[in-house]
Amino acid sequence: MKILVIGGAGYVGSHTVRLLHQAGHQIWIYDNISRGHREAARGYQLIEGELEDRQKLVSVFREHGIEAVVHFAAFALVGESMEHPAMYYRNNVIATLELLEAMREAGVWRIVFSSTTATYGQPEIVPITEDTVQLPINPYGFSKLVIEKALTDYARAYGFGCAALRYFNAAGASPLGGIGEDHEPESHLIPIILQVALGQRSHIGIYGTDYPTPDGTCIRDYIHVDDLGTAHLAALQKLEPGCNFQLNLGTGKGHSVLEVLEACRQVTGHPIPAKIEARRPGDPAKLIADSSRAQKTLNWYPKYIDIQPIIETAWQWHRSHPKGYKSVPQ
Ligand code: UDP
Repeated sequence: MKILVIGGAGYVGSHTVRLLHQAGHQIWIYDNISRGHREAARGYQLIEGELEDRQKLVSVFREHGIEAVVHFAAFALVGESMEHPAMYYRNNVIATLELLEAMREAGVWRIVFSSTTATYGQPEIVPITEDTVQLPINPYGFSKLVIEKALTDYARAYGFGCAALRYFNAAGASPLGGIGEDHEPESHLIPIILQVALGQRSHIGIYGTDYPTPDGTCIRDYIHVDDLGTAHLAALQKLEPGCNFQLNLGTGKGHSVLEVLEACRQVTGHPIPAKIEARRPGDPAKLIADSSRAQKTLNWYPKYIDIQPIIETAWQWHRSHPKGYKSVPQ
């Protein structure tokens, strides 16, 4: 299939690009490089452009005969969305609607969309199924939910074939090397812990030890980024005109912040000092996926179930790229 991967120079995007390419698909990356990295797109056809540039997207679709879109381009930080909601609604909602209109104009009807566990808000019952009520508690979660709803309507009214994949906590890096997680500034748990192991930070701050969990720290479902990628590959094969599905992507296993820290100590052999800090506003205590619907619908199973092998791949990336993509020769 000829696929335009929007946001393909980002973390999940670049891993998915590699897997789609390996599976024999023809790939074009469309990215404005605001949060992605040119180095992550190396070896692929990179078109630099804005999501809201409808005319440019229409030309790209027509020029290359694009048959499907995989859409990763979004702002994805909860805290930032609380401070700058306009940015989130403008990019994640308005610009994405421009993309959908460009697709309609050019007759491209297949789309796989990156959604998120943040659309669920603070669910009381875990594991979380797709039938769990979606009540986001921040603009990021709302912005993703709006597009899920738009896709449902585009499938019904215009015959789009849509898959919204609700990621839990993406982690790890390609075991083949060369690509990995690189955010500026970094806010995610595993990269920050590994930066301590690299001597780039003095300690990790643990955001709260008074949650209603066995060790008092938050529990998350960490899923390997390549397992997210293979789910996109499988979803693309399933798209039919008018179809519309939403699927959770996680391992079904939860790990507390302290468990992740201990696993990182094991993997790196570094003591990784930690300090207890205040809770981070908006952090739900426990998020674990029930991904049985994705397993059944896509015949997809995560390869990485245990946290340690996931961290090993992350460590391989961070150790070989201590400054992220700035470590890559230009
Ligand atoms: N966390 C932490 N210290 C940090 C970063 C994160 O204790 O420096 C915790 C955070 O409160 C959450 C978990 O680690 O419970 C995962 O956070 P992350 O930002 O990686 O992902 P999120 O679940 O927010 O999408």
